[in-house]
Amino acid sequence: MKVAIVGAGTGGMASAIRLAKLGYDVSVFEANDFVGGKVNEKWMGEYRFDMGPSVFTEPSLIDELISLCEKDPSIFSYRQLEESCRYFFSDGQQVIVPVGTKQTAESFEMAFGENRKRTERFLERLSKNYHAVYPVFIRASLHRLNQWCNKGVFRAVLRIPYYGMIRSMNAVNKSRFKNPKTAQLLNRMATYNGSSPYRTPGLLNIISHLEFNEGPAMPIGGMVQISKTLHQLCLELGVQFFLNERVEEILHEQNKVSGIRTNKQQVDCNIVVSNMDVHFTYERLLKGMHEPKKILRQEKSSSAIVFYWGIKDSFKELGVHNIFFAADYEAEFEAIFTTKTRYKDPTIYVHITSKVEESDAPKGSENWFVMVNAPINVGQDWDAFVAETRQTCIEKLSKALNRDIESLIEVESNNEPRKIESVYFGKQGSIYGNSSNSAFSAFYRHPNFSKTLKGLYFAGVTVHPGGGIPLALNSAKIVERCVKEDYQ
Ligand SMILES: Cc1cc2nc3c(=O)[nH]c(=O)nc-3n(C[C@H](O)[C@H](O)[C@H](O)COP(=O)(O)OP(=O)(O)OC[C@H]3O[C@@H](n4cnc5c(N)ncnc54)[C@H](O)[C@@H]3O)c2cc1C
Repeated sequence: MKVAIVGAGTGGMASAIRLAKLGYDVSVFEANDFVGGKVNEKWMGEYRFDMGPSVFTEPSLIDELISLCEKDPSIFSYRQLEESCRYFFSDGQQVIVPVGTKQTAESFEMAFGENRKRTERFLERLSKNYHAVYPVFIRASLHRLNQWCNKGVFRAVLRIPYYGMIRSMNAVNKSRFKNPKTAQLLNRMATYNGSSPYRTPGLLNIISHLEFNEGPAMPIGGMVQISKTLHQLCLELGVQFFLNERVEEILHEQNKVSGIRTNKQQVDCNIVVSNMDVHFTYERLLKGMHEPKKILRQEKSSSAIVFYWGIKDSFKELGVHNIFFAADYEAEFEAIFTTKTRYKDPTIYVHITSKVEESDAPKGSENWFVMVNAPINVGQDWDAFVAETRQTCIEKLSKALNRDIESLIEVESNNEPRKIESVYFGKQGSIYGNSSNSAFSAFYRHPNFSKTLKGLYFAGVTVHPGGGIPLALNSAKIVERCVKEDYQ
């Protein structure tokens, strides 16, 4: 059996590993001249930058792939961070949140006057919700009854009253905590899958379980090591890579996949796994095919503007992850996620990642990954907007850190929605496909297989189970399970 994978992103390479391990003959076609998709790196002089993700949770999913390939776990190493994040509020308050249920609860008590026991109970509840939801909604295809209808489903159903399905994340957090800053801090997690806390359901608070109870990890060598490890595993399994080779059509006969056509060749195959944004897969590779219109019409997730700054100074007040909040947080959120209004302050929060590796910057300097949320591309004047956002970030950070940041920038580059669309093929620059801005969003994500074309599967953040590296890795696991059910 021959398999063609469209795209060498996290979901594409994880699928390649799993299908090669089943004994299939797997080839990966990647439009860019590098593997890893959004998880890639760039050097500017002596500064190294991870270009996409900076928050890494559930490293065990990479360990699982290494163990599947019977390789030494040491090929991928990471450190568990001791702090989930450092927070800088607009009134000058600074809070370090250490990892762990008890530690987080203690820091919320000291910083925000929250009841320690109440916070612990809240975080423990999120842990239970997470473990109830995981086997049903995240590790299985929601579109195959035999997969999600297992023992776990009763546990998941029994916990429905605790999920907060009919209230927004913000409503749940505001009712649980007395200090608005606590809700502001927890609400941020909605953006981890490109959604708004004022519209996404309270269930999505399970992301806080990963952030606060378990804590983020950081691969040794930076986030790009995730891509390098997946690539190495693929090569050792005999997967072939075709870089600089854009897939232009998925070929089919009698409702079955028969091959692909790239900008360089035509290749016969029995199975295609698309790691391309599902919207573009239909629009560009399956022209004329029946489209799942309702799914493709859903509101898109947000995008981002990122500044990569080589800073010729060091900042002891910064940790690996640092958040600088805006004062008028709530008002600006809606504008970002609807794109209907022109928002005034694009920096609802500025996320700086630094200090990943000492060797990422010259001695006494730091490599800053400075990210703000942004709307998707609907034809805004991005050149003006990026310049404006850069200025606002510089002013805010200079004030908060009491140093003239602009004069410290030695090298720089940026990323914005138009580039996310043209480099990684994310529809309108959205990072995670559809947003999760409604209680039913999970049911409007595209399945991991095609209902009309036998042999066509989908992996990556734009399909089930959703956005972020861990979910892309889970999508590959579901693809493997579906292929096994269909062909073995
Ligand atoms: C700025 C930014 C910050 C982020 N922060 C985080 C974070 O902190 N934590 C986190 O977990 N996630 C984060 N993400 C999301 C994360 O990058 C993705 O979830 C993850 O990389 C998985 O993506 P994917 O598998 O869908 O593939 P992608 O990375 O989207 O890769 C898809 C690949 O397919 C290729 N391709 C597309 N079409 C074709 C075609 N026709 N022919 C050939 N090749 C094609 C593309 O070139 C690309 O290489 C962030 C993303 C961005 C952009």
